[in-house]
Amino acid sequence: MDEALWRSDKQFGVEMIEGNTVRQVRRLADGSGWEVEDDRQEVRHARFLILACGRWWRIDGLRSPGRGEPRANYGPWVGVKAHFRGVSERDAIEMYFFQGGYCGLAPVEGGRYNACCLVHRSLLQAGHLNGGAKAFTDLARWLRVVAQHPALEARLRGAQQVSPTLATAPLRPARGPAGREGVLLAGDAAGFLDPFTGDGISMALHAGRLAASVVADRAVAEGLGGSPADVTRRYACLLSRAAGRSYTVAALIRTLVRAPSEVQDLAAKMVPWLGTHLLHATRWRDP
Ligand SMILES: Cc1cc2nc3c(=O)[nH]c(=O)nc-3n(C[C@H](O)[C@H](O)[C@H](O)COP(=O)(O)OP(=O)(O)OC[C@H]3O[C@@H](n4cnc5c(N)ncnc54)[C@H](O)[C@@H]3O)c2cc1C
Repeated sequence: MDEALWRSDKQFGVEMIEGNTVRQVRRLADGSGWEVEDDRQEVRHARFLILACGRWWRIDGLRSPGRGEPRANYGPWVGVKAHFRGVSERDAIEMYFFQGGYCGLAPVEGGRYNACCLVHRSLLQAGHLNGGAKAFTDLARWLRVVAQHPALEARLRGAQQVSPTLATAPLRPARGPAGREGVLLAGDAAGFLDPFTGDGISMALHAGRLAASVVADRAVAEGLGGSPADVTRRYACLLSRAAGRSYTVAALIRTLVRAPSEVQDLAAKMVPWLGTHLLHATRWRDP
């Protein structure tokens, strides 16, 4: 999809620069825009900036989550994934919830399955990770110890892991600011939505489009006067309308992940009639 988007933007005449990392941004003294410097010391000018660098970035000139007090940016969740061959195919994306985390199973290219989990770090700390980091290399075995979920275990029984286990941390599912020092934030940079919603990519695309449309409206209206600060305010307001509820509902569901198993069982019984509502409640709504 990344490649398709890249090609389509190019077709629409967007200037695309590949492989450069933005190192620093500087606001022009007269407030009319920005200087953007990359790792090749090339400098470009921009009237507005939209930052879509994911949840963990570091750019001089902006307060960055990848810098400063590290503990303040830490979240309690760890993401883990691997690909498997030999999982019998089902026409569904499967979610297995267990105390302290969950695992999604989804078919991917080449007849393989992607197993992707989010686990609370207390599971790791509590010593469930028998065998230390080495145990991580066999994800199915690791899940048997950590999740103790018979249905998940049955699905992965006999399957062959065909990729390394990849882990990402720290993860802190939470809504973030829509703007920072006059820069619009889109996608994970503006908040990380729980992966169990399966909607992070869609949210990132919608938010990017929304930010671009607010900037474009502003650029058109500029001849009519007004302040550039309106752009951040307007974007923040529209983004909140479009995605605010998704974070609230996802946070409520997340509390279930750490709830006692009796509460989880009760919630599981309610899924057939509650599930559709919850699904809709975590989706983007056009503002
Ligand atoms: C474990 C896990 C499972 C997930 N499962 C799902 C799922 O099933 N479905 C779903 O929809 N979403 C899922 N997500 C969420 C999804 O991956 C994100 O929401 C989505 O990728 C956000 O897109 P983004 O463009 O904002 O950020 P990213 O995809 O992180 O892209 C940011 C890009 O910016 C680049 N960048 C960073 N800094 C700079 C810089 N200084 N200069 C230039 N470029 C820079 C990075 O290299 C990267 O290419 C999952 C996430 C995790 C962690």
